[in-house]
Amino acid sequence: MNEIQSLRGTADILPPQSALWNEVERKVAEHFERYGYELIRTPIIEQSELFLRSIGEDTDIVEKEMYTFSDRKGRSVTLRPEGTACVVRAAMQHELLGQKIRKFYYMGPMFRYERPQAGRQRQFNQLGVEMFGTYSPLADAETISMMVRLFEMLGLKGVSVNINTLGDKESLEKYRAVLRERARANFDKFCPDCQRRMEKNVLRLLDCKVPSCKEIFQNDLPAIKDCLTDEAKAHYETVLKQLDLMGIKYVETPQLVRGLDYYTHTIFEVTHNSLGSQDALGGGGRYNDLVESMGGAPTGAVGFAIGEERLMIALAAVRGEEEKAKAADVFLVSMDEEAIGENLVLSDALRTAGISVALLPEKASAKSQFRQANASGAPCVLIRGGDERGKGIWNLKMMESGEQKEFTKEEILSFFKE
Ligand code: AMP
Repeated sequence: MNEIQSLRGTADILPPQSALWNEVERKVAEHFERYGYELIRTPIIEQSELFLRSIGEDTDIVEKEMYTFSDRKGRSVTLRPEGTACVVRAAMQHELLGQKIRKFYYMGPMFRYERPQAGRQRQFNQLGVEMFGTYSPLADAETISMMVRLFEMLGLKGVSVNINTLGDKESLEKYRAVLRERARANFDKFCPDCQRRMEKNVLRLLDCKVPSCKEIFQNDLPAIKDCLTDEAKAHYETVLKQLDLMGIKYVETPQLVRGLDYYTHTIFEVTHNSLGSQDALGGGGRYNDLVESMGGAPTGAVGFAIGEERLMIALAAVRGEEEKAKAADVFLVSMDEEAIGENLVLSDALRTAGISVALLPEKASAKSQFRQANASGAPCVLIRGGDERGKGIWNLKMMESGEQKEFTKEEILSFFKE
């Protein structure tokens, strides 16, 4: 075994699973683009300040999970733990936000120093979207429906959508007060983190991972619905009504808060039953105050992120089959040494024409090449040796029927193009 191993909580994505990753990322990009989203790629490393201000200083992510260190000039930098803050930073820096609605999607690695377990890593990948420039509840519904349709498009059955609202600033203030009062009455039962966060950021008590803390509110959670302003209530009702019209099933989940500070109004999370205790496939919501809090103009925004590792686990469970490596269209067999070079020339033309070709670039017995051709899954082989050279042709052999036919290079090219 190598002396040097990958870091705990990181993973190599190896063939044949990597083919599934490719397929999923390609399909997801097309899906997002059908909804008018454009790709954005931001750096993996940012000033730490970005995440302190956006995600919130009292969150688990910022307090315990960030990969933060000083660069060689002593500046505090952080490997991004999530994508939204980065997209907001980029959109503001390049003045992409204005009158028009702008939609961006991203995919790539995120870093959180969490305790690794199935479906939880320290480096993991997310697929995410952000829409800026609208406060409309219909945009929330469109975003949620895009996420649900994405899973359907990938053939992933059995997802559940949990939805809740946090309301606007006024609703949240009221809710925090009610929650804080209830929490204070149970002060001793909470973990030290929760005790400390109770006064500063009481909402974080609802996403504490400590089981005994979870229990406290489980059967006795003050309802946010009772604290909503009329406007916030109307916003939420419109979202739900639109989801009903689009045939999107959801479960209203009052205890859902999500672990980041920037959310307002609609929040949602999608789970899948194949994922065990780490069952959240993705989540998101509206975050109307984030751009302004980062120094921009008030900008309505809504988005979500999906965990790619969990998506692959769920897809593999549903598809129930090992992903197979994609077979080549043809395998080139070289009967003598000269044929290897000739086959390489032919493969060059075929591959340029978009055909996938397998061949051995070194001397091997005909028997061994046919064995490999069989194993490769290619439906046919092209054979080249002394006889074929004499006639200026290749012998095309269909693997299944054993049928053979002589072809010139030009005939081969037009045969495969068809
Ligand atoms: P969040 O940014 O926390 O809302 O996470 C969005 C999604 O990313 C989650 O629903 C998970 O699918 C995925 N995710 C978050 N943290 C991790 C992690 N440590 N390892 C793997 N996936 C994660």
